[in-house]
Amino acid sequence: MRGKDMAMIFQEPMSALNPLMTVGAQVTEVMEAHRAFTPDARKQRALDLFNFVGLPDPKVLYDTHPFRLSGGQRQRVMIAMALALEPPLLIADEPTTALDVTTQAQILALIAKIQKEKGMGVMFVTHDFGVVAEIAHRVAVMEKGILVEQGSVDQVLNNPRHPYTQRLIAAVPHLRKIERVVAKEGEVVLEVANLQKTYVTGRTLFTKPRIIKAVDNVSFTVRRGETLGIVGESGSGKSTIGKCLLKLIKIDGGEIRFQGTDIAGYSEAQLRPLRRHVQMIFQDPFASLNPRHTVGRSICDGPIANGDSPRDAEHRTRELLELVGLDVSAFDRYPNQFSGGQRQRIGIARALALNPSLIVADESVSALDVSVQAQVLELLQSLQKRLQIGIIFITHDLRVASQICHSIAVMHQGKIVEFGKPTDIFNNPQSDYTKRLVDAIPGKQWEPQESVV
Ligand code: ADP
Ligand code: MG
Repeated sequence: MRGKDMAMIFQEPMSALNPLMTVGAQVTEVMEAHRAFTPDARKQRALDLFNFVGLPDPKVLYDTHPFRLSGGQRQRVMIAMALALEPPLLIADEPTTALDVTTQAQILALIAKIQKEKGMGVMFVTHDFGVVAEIAHRVAVMEKGILVEQGSVDQVLNNPRHPYTQRLIAAVPHLRKIERVVAKEGEVVLEVANLQKTYVTGRTLFTKPRIIKAVDNVSFTVRRGETLGIVGESGSGKSTIGKCLLKLIKIDGGEIRFQGTDIAGYSEAQLRPLRRHVQMIFQDPFASLNPRHTVGRSICDGPIANGDSPRDAEHRTRELLELVGLDVSAFDRYPNQFSGGQRQRIGIARALALNPSLIVADESVSALDVSVQAQVLELLQSLQKRLQIGIIFITHDLRVASQICHSIAVMHQGKIVEFGKPTDIFNNPQSDYTKRLVDAIPGKQWEPQESVV
């Protein structure tokens, strides 16, 4: 049945493709296994399929190994493979979750086109309601192994009946219509001018050395109490900016003025007293928490290293745990005893322990479920208001950025291609790249009704 009656595509095509076989051979193998087509016709069929799924240069690609392809191209190869025998059912399990929005939009359009032309049934598994709005006719909502609600896409998205569906939909980040205003315009905490970072990757067996301008002449300022969003697709240089600001990597040029002082040329020793003022929150706090230390110890470490007495540090840590909405008993527990959302709260508590004036949050809610994501965003905003922190919020998700940011910088190939208020950027994008990016946001037409939210 596999391949002939039903075929499956996955989130990570790299792990589903055989790294040792050319992609052409993998597609023909499916046909061979089912003795479909004559051996001579198989290659032609594979080439036709590559063409059909929009892969460039099918003839060259046929003899290429998977690691040479981009994520979107690999997913197209998987789709070509799934279509080889024209099965009546395609099961797609989060096939676009690991892709950039513009690539995601292309793959969704491709699946819709195939469905229309081949009359295939598609079971599309996703956690993203925007994608649901984009692609589904009918929706089934699952909670803890049970289908709690089923109906047409219109009924489920606009008129959900089950409380779980209602909660989920209320938590979906949407493009905001209303401007976020800065509660209190604070002093400029960070001023970046003409920041440059170039990576030179060494020659390997397969590649020549490449020079990548990861950050190319980037300038911006952040005030206390303000959130600056840095958005863009993967590889656009967002994380590199974050690393430069924290001086985790050497920069190649430009100024980083922190509270008036240019720290670009500072040595590690000069930076040490400043370090506490700039903190970072990561995508996966688990990876940055020591699994063998209690949460309390992980949070206390920073303040103690900065001269606080253990007693004061402990007292403050207990306060912080409460502030981020965790039980004080968290102090004596270990990171593995917490959920993803709770761990992100721990990461925030740890960042706050040193009383920073600036926090750099790199994809810090990207791994969380929508309902948890909404809670963490809420927490960040209320803490920011109370503590007057400047936040640099790095994300690939424009919907999330529009929720939390006061201003947004759109990055493309190391450059800021557009800068402005979220509402201006989303309603009236100026650069071509931003237009494409905004166009590709899944489900942007769909607005949950007032009664739901
Ligand atoms: P983003 O966070 O927007 O996904 P990054 O800042 O991580 O992007 O990467 C920007 C560019 O720099 C990419 O082309 C990436 O491949 C490259 N890059 C990042 N880190 C390194 C490194 N340590 N060595 C070489 N190239 C790198
Ligand atoms: Mg990144």
